[in-house]
Amino acid sequence: MFEQKTKDKQVFEKMDTRNDIWDIVAYTTDLIDFAVNVWASDIHIEPSKNFVSIRFRESWDFMYVDKISQDEYSKLLARMKILANLRIDEKYRPQDGKIGFSMPGTWEPIDIRVSLLPIIDWEKIVMRILRQDASLLNMDKLEFLDVNLIKIKETLKSKYWMILIAWPTGSGKSTTLFSTLKHFNPLDYNISTLEDPVEYNIQYINQTHVRPDIGFDFASGLRTLVRQDPDIIMVWEIRDKETATLAIEAALTWHLVLSTIHTNSASATIQRLINMWIEPFLIASALKLVISQRLIKKVCQKCKKPYKIKEPSITNKIDSYLNWVIPEKAEDITFFKWDWCPECGNTWYKWRIGIHEVLTVDERLDTLILNKSSANEIEKKAKELGMITIMQDAIIKSATGKTTIEETLKLI
Ligand SMILES: [Zn+2]
Repeated sequence: MFEQKTKDKQVFEKMDTRNDIWDIVAYTTDLIDFAVNVWASDIHIEPSKNFVSIRFRESWDFMYVDKISQDEYSKLLARMKILANLRIDEKYRPQDGKIGFSMPGTWEPIDIRVSLLPIIDWEKIVMRILRQDASLLNMDKLEFLDVNLIKIKETLKSKYWMILIAWPTGSGKSTTLFSTLKHFNPLDYNISTLEDPVEYNIQYINQTHVRPDIGFDFASGLRTLVRQDPDIIMVWEIRDKETATLAIEAALTWHLVLSTIHTNSASATIQRLINMWIEPFLIASALKLVISQRLIKKVCQKCKKPYKIKEPSITNKIDSYLNWVIPEKAEDITFFKWDWCPECGNTWYKWRIGIHEVLTVDERLDTLILNKSSANEIEKKAKELGMITIMQDAIIKSATGKTTIEETLKLI
């Protein structure tokens, strides 16, 4: 829809005023899409006496992009207010809001801060575009160990079952959830989500914002969703028995169900379901994979210094966790330390990587689940079957120079 932009005010003045926007939803999406593609930092939509001008700020320059009539502008303004969750009937006071936008195709999450200012007879819109790192929405870039990534991709091939993500607060679960969804082409499947709230609008995915305050919760949402002929269902969180039961039923009727549970480890997730009074045989039949994850500080790649740990109190501790997952003993492993350079001194807080534990739930765990075993017993068996725990993953990532052993020991 947008092909040209100009810096030249005279060219802009000669431009026709657009009066034929038949699809304001598509127009809005295209406008944001265009701004992001040319790396504009702000979109200014400015009403004047005869028309409304739309221009982008790119570096220091303003680029004129479009000129629309005031009738078209009322539609655009209403659309922006809906997207940013602002009051449509408010015209006389400034309003601030946020739009969660995701780029068509790449799903790059974009935060757009919207500011509305009343000016004579109208409201002026300025939108600040804040980009995030699109590469993060890719399973291959989430720093899974190869052995874990293979387990996940194998499970996704079957296109049914239930996959749960165990998450303590602030563990970056939405990145993992959406990366898993992105593994599927939404044009080949009916992908439907129940979210609270919907943070980013993703093209071709049917996203529903549940509203527990009006009785539309995850459970009632799930009941409706299964009647919508879905292939893949993502439920933001399982908090109660009813939602858990419905999610399991959906998985057992040939849907792929993705969800999250607030627990600290993969094995604790199974115990949590047992404690919700879910029939153990249902858990064993529906649940296929549990991914548990946390975030850990990443070591600065510019200033990191190799060193070996001499203190037996620490090496013994590391060895007890590693338990021969890698052949070396802790005293022989090269770990890394921060040396603080301007790069990390200013920006270290941005740097986090995921550490994971991926538990495949197969018939070898059936007896334990049917006997309602504790999380410890399940974890013990899972380790025998080759599961790498979060601690082990963190130690491996310390030994490969991605994080530090100090950060890893903080997890205990
Ligand atoms: Zn540094």
